[in-house]
Amino acid sequence: MYIGRFAPSPSGPLHFGSLVAALGSYFQAKANHGQWLVRIEDIDPPREMPGASALILRTLEAYQLEWDGEVVYQSQRHQLYQDQIESWLTSGQAYYCQCSRKEIKQSGGFYLGTCRDKHLSGDNPCATRLRMTHPVYEFVDQKHGLLTIPKALADEDFIIKRRDGLFAYNLAVVLDDIDQGVTEVVRGADLIEPTGRQISLYQMLEQTPVTYLHLPLALGDNGLKLSKQNHAPAIDIENPKPALIEAMHFLGFEMDKAICDASLAEIIAWGEQNWHLDQLPNTTEITPRFSKRPR
Ligand code: GLU
Repeated sequence: MYIGRFAPSPSGPLHFGSLVAALGSYFQAKANHGQWLVRIEDIDPPREMPGASALILRTLEAYQLEWDGEVVYQSQRHQLYQDQIESWLTSGQAYYCQCSRKEIKQSGGFYLGTCRDKHLSGDNPCATRLRMTHPVYEFVDQKHGLLTIPKALADEDFIIKRRDGLFAYNLAVVLDDIDQGVTEVVRGADLIEPTGRQISLYQMLEQTPVTYLHLPLALGDNGLKLSKQNHAPAIDIENPKPALIEAMHFLGFEMDKAICDASLAEIIAWGEQNWHLDQLPNTTEITPRFSKRPR
């Protein structure tokens, strides 16, 4: 059974880039007769916007993207993450690290395992790192084929819990995808780089990794990724059709006037039937046409 998911972080309302990820993961799940789950990745409160989780869900409803099962919130799953960290600390796979960002920068930007054998107790504020025993230097993407990961990045003992006590994205995402039975991850191309680390985690956990499909990334006029941090505008929740059609064009659908004039439900059903990976643009970055128009 195919299980896909859309996993937004509630740092702001849904913008065009997140709509592309929602639609791409939705169509891919439906085309594979699978389930489409929604998980709210609220593990970084300082970067969150109050009310964003509820707004994101309302927006998905307005776009008639219906998810399967209950919405999962990462903020309610700390125990799962902490238990895994403790098991790795006990086995020696994870360790505490006191190095500052500045010190790591001075040693060339990558962490070289300075605290690996120091056996720090974790009493003082410390980050927790994972001893990298299964580095992943390449992986196959369903659209882009073989993608490579820089060696220094793949080899690094990366952080699984931050010094400020927050759980790291890579850890939470993999533990949740395993726990929820996810079989394929469809998301924006900005997340190609951490994929190697995520596959390393599957290997350390002795689990079969998911397959990956990275969608073209929507860039704004300034060439930057459309993101909540870059203040990408929220998509219209009252009148979803224009952004829906724009996002479907972006995903490579060729839509004639008849389908553009159809109802929201009809457009989405048509998208489910006509979704093919071949139509997806090959590039990992594209400027959406709408951004050329004055806003
Ligand atoms: N929560 C991540 C984001 O909003 C996406 C995680 C994922 O799809 O793996 O950027």
